[in-house]
Parts: sequence; structure tokens; C-alpha cells
Amino acid sequence: MAELPTAIREPEIKYTQIFINNEWVDSVSGKTFPTIHPGNGKKICDVQEGDKADIDKAVEAAKKAFEFGSPWQKMDATKKGALMHKFADLIERDKLYIASLETLDNGMAFRDAYGGDMPMVVDIFRYYAGWTDKIQGRTVPIDGTFFCYTRHEPVGVCGQIIPWNFPLTLFALKVAPALACGNTVVVKPAEQTPLSALYAAQLLKEAGFPPGVVNVVAGYGPTAGAAISEHPDINKISFTGSTEVGQRIMAAAAKSNLKRVTLELGGKSPLVVWKDANLDTVVEWAQQAIFFNCGQVCTAGSRTYVHEDIYDEFVKKATARAQTKITGDPFDSKSEYGPLISEEQFSKVLDLIESGKQEGANLECGGQRHGTEGYFIQPTVFSNVTEKMKIGREEIFGPVQSIIKFKDMEDVVARANDTKYGLAAAIFTEDIDTALTFTSRVKAGTVWVNCYLIASTAAPFGGFKMSGIGREFGEYGLQAYTEVKNVIMKTSVKL
Ligand code: ADP
Repeated sequence: MAELPTAIREPEIKYTQIFINNEWVDSVSGKTFPTIHPGNGKKICDVQEGDKADIDKAVEAAKKAFEFGSPWQKMDATKKGALMHKFADLIERDKLYIASLETLDNGMAFRDAYGGDMPMVVDIFRYYAGWTDKIQGRTVPIDGTFFCYTRHEPVGVCGQIIPWNFPLTLFALKVAPALACGNTVVVKPAEQTPLSALYAAQLLKEAGFPPGVVNVVAGYGPTAGAAISEHPDINKISFTGSTEVGQRIMAAAAKSNLKRVTLELGGKSPLVVWKDANLDTVVEWAQQAIFFNCGQVCTAGSRTYVHEDIYDEFVKKATARAQTKITGDPFDSKSEYGPLISEEQFSKVLDLIESGKQEGANLECGGQRHGTEGYFIQPTVFSNVTEKMKIGREEIFGPVQSIIKFKDMEDVVARANDTKYGLAAAIFTEDIDTALTFTSRVKAGTVWVNCYLIASTAAPFGGFKMSGIGREFGEYGLQAYTEVKNVIMKTSVKL
């Protein structure tokens, strides 16, 4: 990682309104909601609260911006790509400010916001900028005297609902591929973390996107979010968040206008440590897998399966390593982990830790609040976990490593797959057959071998089973943003 600059502790809050048609407006209801800093639980500022009426206005703007003859519709694909590159330039220009804003609003360690999220946002926009002039159809040699070709046309207005765990990265992931295919968007950031998306909206305007192409409405899920999923003029919805809300969104999409749906949902991902793995190396990977961003990661390696021959030694090493992890002030570049997002999440994780103790798991270390203010929780390690326990089954979304013992391949494959989720999985082994057997048998959208959490803008990401529908990132991520139109023309000769 490049050297870290010093974070701005009190970044000026510049945008708190609703962004429609490249203009900042107040909510129709006049209501606002507070956003808080999870490091101390104090209010940062009030933000205009969007609801159905504001979503209606945003959709109207996005529809107009999409219409035939609009500046966006008429714009050459290469120019669209240039605007996306320009936006990436502006993120690079302001990355110290934006990363500080993210740390303030989300609580993520500044080192991750600056060193991880900012480059990722830039990469996503640059990667999809390169696709704008490569959205191609085919010619199809059908029988008879006809000319048959396909066009990959934009879907239309896309409603993008974003969670709080990586606010700007997921904003980029929802906006860039949609724009690359020529769509327009209405984005709803999570109510816990609206600030970086609002700032990004201003940068999109500065980059030169025409009015209405991107609209950003902050607000709550059951109001503004539901208005998106039910809206008759939204053609596609992309959601990242909990499985429960994903089901609700899909039902609303089905009931309203059959809008296209992509969902990226929860996980309870197994990370398997085979008996031949190098323990010191694997302890590092396995803890990065579960402690990164305080475990508030949908792909978190939240079930650490360790072979019985090396189980006790692994637990010892993992416990010792967890105790050296640095949780603290997220603005301090030495902190590896900041607070959890909210009081609600903080209480939920502490309750799950308590249930682990009650249900017979061994608390090896952590398990307590860290400090006296904010929502910090110590990196926590449990051994003797089983899948019958809540901590072995439910998505915790906190810094809690659950170490489970297994016997052999049959045992671990069956248990790895015994979950409603299927987002990610990993195996650590030196043996190629062991690795290939596991990668082919485990049901998960991403399988890592001897690594974890490695992601690329070019590689597809998504879930099996109840972890989601569709894929994001890479060329696969474009599929949901176009409709395939088949055109058949009668010709007088055989072509
Ligand atoms: P998490 O459990 O990670 O907080 P949620 O699934 O509750 O995730 O929230 C993710 C996003 O979904 C947020 O932007 C939230 O406002 C939105 N959301 C929550 N409930 C609904 C709903 N009923 N309809 C649409 N969006 C919703």
C-alpha cells in the first residue's frame, strides 16, 4: 500500500440534500434524518430524507434523461467513457477528503477507506469506462432470406439500493456498469452512510454527465427503498444487502412491473484449513477473512473449518494473533479496525457472542466492547463451534471468528454446503487434488484457493442459493444492464 496521508478528522460536510437533475433540492416532505459517526455515536449532520414523492421526482428525471433524443441518448459511447474517466480523475483528486468522509460516516479504518476503497472506486469506473464502446450485438445466420442481428440496448431507468458496509465502492459498482450500457439511474444510499454518495453526485455533475442521468436520494429502506422496488417506471433494480430485504425487493419487483432484479445478499462463508496447510500463513488469511472491516463484509470467512489433526494448534495461534490486532480510532492510520456501523449492529453482535457462550462454544479471546464510547468490539475468537449454534449458522457481520473442527473431505463438503447461503468459500492446502475436489463440490459464487477476499473489477462476483441472483463486476456484470433486441429484416436475396 502507498504511504498513508493523515486523515482529515473533521471533513467539511458539503452536500446533504437530494440530487435530482444535477440540482440539489430539499425533500418534498421537508423531513431530514441524522447521520452519526460510529466512533462516538454523535450526530455528524442532518440529511434531507427522501421518500416516495422524491423517488417519483428522481425517476421522472431519469426517465427524461433516458428518452430518445436526450443528450445522454445521443451521446457517443466514447464520450460516455470519457465522462466516466473524468469522474475517476475527480475521485483521485479528492480521495483524501472522500476517504476521510467515509471514515467519519461509516467508521471504517481510514487505512482501508483510503488504501482500499478509493482505488477500487477509481478502478471500477475506469474498467467500465472501457466497456462503453464495446457493448456489441451479433449477426445471426437464420434460415431463409432474412438479415438477423441483435442489439444490446440499455434497460432504462435503474434503481440502485446500496448498503452501508462499503458505501462508495458499492455506489461505483451500481452506477458504473449501468452508465457504461447507456442507462440512467436513481441511487439510494444506505441511511447510515449517505455522505460519500452525495459528494460523488456532485463530482458526476462536475465530470459533465447531463442532468437526470444520475440521481441520488438518501432515505430509509421501508420508505424510499420500497418506493424504488415498487416503482412502475423503474426497469431494473440492483440491490446489495440482507437476504430478507432482498426477498422483499424481489416480491415488490414481481408485483409491480416485473422489473429486472439483481441481488447480492448475505453469506456464511466456509474457509477450510486442510491438514497440510502452513499454519502461520493461514492464520493470517483466515483472520483477514473475518476481521476485515470488522467482519461487516458479505463474503466474510465466518466459518473457519480446521482439520482435526491441526485443530488445537490452529486455535492457539489464532487466539494469540487476534490479541495483537489493533482496534481503535478509525482516523488513526495505526488502527486496523474501527467501530461497527451502528448501535443496532453493535448490540446484535454482542448478543450473538453471548449466545455462543451460552450454547457451549469456547470464548478464546475478545467478546467485549472495546473502549467506552462508540461501537467498537474486540476481535473475538471462538473454538469448539458447531453449526447447531447460532454463531455457526447465522450471519454475524461482526469481528467474530468461529473455529469448527472437521474430519475429512466428505465431512467438510457436506457441512460447508449445509447453509442457505452460497456466496464464497475457500480452501488452504498444498495438494492440488484436494483443492480441485473442494472447489468443484462447494456451492459458492467465489471460491478462493490459498487466499481470501481477493477481488478484481474484471472478475465476476455473486451468490449461489440465497446469497443472490446475477453477477456484478467484470463482463458478466454488464449482462443485467442490457436487453437483447433481435431484429429480423426480410431481404430479397440469401445473404
Ligand atoms: P443491512 O442488514 O446490511 O443493514 P439492509 O438490507 O437492511 O442491510 O439494507 C441495505 C439497503 O437496503 C439500505 O439502503 C436500506 O435502506 C435498504 N432497504 C432496507 N429495507 C428495504 C426495503 N423494504 N425496501 C427497499 N430497500 C430497503
